[in-house]
Amino acid sequence: MEYYSSPISKLIEELSRLPGIGAKTAGRLAFHIVNMPKEQVDALANALTEAKSKVRYCRECFTLTDDELCPICASEKRNHKLIMVVENTRDLAAYEKTGRYEGVYHVLHGAISPMLGIGPNEIKLKELIERLRGDVEEVIIATNSSLEGETTAMYISKLIKPTGIKVSRIASGVPVGGDLEYIDEVTLFRALEGRTQL
Ligand code: ZN
Repeated sequence: MEYYSSPISKLIEELSRLPGIGAKTAGRLAFHIVNMPKEQVDALANALTEAKSKVRYCRECFTLTDDELCPICASEKRNHKLIMVVENTRDLAAYEKTGRYEGVYHVLHGAISPMLGIGPNEIKLKELIERLRGDVEEVIIATNSSLEGETTAMYISKLIKPTGIKVSRIASGVPVGGDLEYIDEVTLFRALEGRTQL
């Protein structure tokens, strides 16, 4: 039995596809949206389509940006020989907030997870190896300390070792399975400073 009109059911269905949004929250959001002033709904819809159409990957580090090169890769002040590998753009933002990292990044957009069927080819790993043909002194692996993050770190270090480029891993102390973005800046900076060579 249909409880709601089909446009509302459709809205609930779309919203519930979003991460962290269950059927209940999706329902609450859907009813909130249909009760919002029309201008606000239009602004939301426009923000969604504009973000999708204008945001793309930086051609160097693959973070999300609206230019061919992100501001970090385009900056001459950054040390382009030092590359920190992170799982996603949110982790990059967390390290940027410390304001103390002077290198550049490489965003994998995920981590290797045999359980979820995510292999090395599903993340931006080939692109990282490609970058290492350039002038690189050190790669800092800053994937999460979850099982997937550790698996990815190990995989990357094995790939890089033969090239002779220095590989390091951020210090543990970052809570297991904790998303990097929720960790305070001091902890994050200490993890970076205390990195160990692999
Ligand atoms: Zn970039």
